[in-house]
Formats: sequence, structure tokens, C-alpha cells
Amino acid sequence: MDIAENLKEIESTLPSHVRLVAVSKTKSEAEIMEAYQAGQRLFGENKIQEMVAKWENLPKDIQWHMIGHVQRNKVKYMAGFVSLVQGVDSLRLLREIDKRAAQNQRVIDCLLQVHIARESTKFGFDEDEIRTLLAAESLSDLKHVRIRGLMGMATFTEDMEQVRSEFRSLKSLYDEVRTGRQEMDILSMGMSGDYAIAIEEGSTMVRIGSSIFGLRDCQLNR
Ligand SMILES: *Cc1c(COP(=O)(O)O)cnc(C)c1O
Repeated sequence: MDIAENLKEIESTLPSHVRLVAVSKTKSEAEIMEAYQAGQRLFGENKIQEMVAKWENLPKDIQWHMIGHVQRNKVKYMAGFVSLVQGVDSLRLLREIDKRAAQNQRVIDCLLQVHIARESTKFGFDEDEIRTLLAAESLSDLKHVRIRGLMGMATFTEDMEQVRSEFRSLKSLYDEVRTGRQEMDILSMGMSGDYAIAIEEGSTMVRIGSSIFGLRDCQLNR
């Protein structure tokens, strides 16, 4: 795996308004440094403890995105440095992030995760919950979080029309709810297998792991 080469190749296909998050979960600090030396500064992790350990050891100009499900009792460990929490899937979690951000005298950027896939998972809001949450007056009490946009994952399927239609509905929700909210400017959708479609459907941020770093051990054993 030539990480620098992979990065260059992917970047050459990305329009300038699309940001690339290199998903480095399970990957070593040496592998991350290869990407770093190739110029990559945005990395995504899905386990808080793993992200904290990497943050401690690696250059401080790396921006760390939390892309996985967040356990509320672990928010405190990342509140001092995390640059974007992509998977906010409950108001309780948003409140906890607000509280811990305040303790660190920060405002933490967050994306609301929307459940768009057909697969059943416990994580993510449905469309109506997003509308309700964003309309709630109590949201303005949370002065230490800033909702920057939405994040979603399409169904894990070969059926690319299905994937496209899920991305399209997320884009349409995004356009609807960001009206009048200047701070909402991120639509995070697209991974290694589907990012080209996601970009066609309006993504502004892609989260790519295996196409940069190679398959993760858990994928090889599948
Ligand atoms: C692992 C992961 C990715 C990256 O997946 P790849 O298929 O390796 O590109 C993107 N988003 C989330 C939320 C992930 O957990």
C-alpha cells in the first residue's frame, strides 16, 4: 500500500469544495504519519480512546474527527481537542458535548447523524427528528456546540441506485434545514465504496479509509 500515492490519486478526483477525511481507525501511527507527510491533516477515528492516544503522540496540527458512535461517558476525554464530532445521534449526547466543551472553554463543531440506510441500526436521527431538534428553542441554550451540518451512511449494498437515492434524500434534507443557518455548511457523506456517487449528489466531505490505507484487519477476515 502506497499511502501517499493513494491520497494523491483520490485528491485528484475531488472537486475543490469537497474535504477529505482520512479514516485511520485501527491504523498505526506510522501509517498516519505517511499520510501526514503527504500533506493530509484531517483524520477520522471511531473510538475515543484510540483517537486520544493518537492525538497525544502525533503532531498537534492534525485535526481529529470523531466519526463513530460516541458514548456519553467518554466525551470528556476528547473535549479538549476534537475538531468535529460527526456522529451526534441524540440530544443527550449534544448536551454532554456542550457541557464538556464549556469546561474546556471551547465551542465544538458537530454534525447530526441521519439514519438514511435501509439497514436497521440504533444510531442516527430520522428526518423528522432532525427537523424537531433544529426547531427546538432549547437548542440555543447550548452555547458551546455549533451544528455544522449533517452526516449519513448509505446502505452497504451493491445496488448503487439505492445508495444514490439515499444520498439524494440526505442532500434534500440538508438543503431544507440549513436555510437561514449560515453555520451549517458541511454535508458528510461518502466512503471508499461510494464517495464518487456521494459527491455527485452534493457531498462536501468524504470519509475515506480503506482506499487510502488498505483494508482493515476486520475487513480482511470477513
Ligand atoms: C470506517 C468508516 C468510514 C471509512 O470506511 P472505508 O470504507 O474504509 O472508506 C467512513 N465513515 C465511517 C462512519 C466509518 O466508520
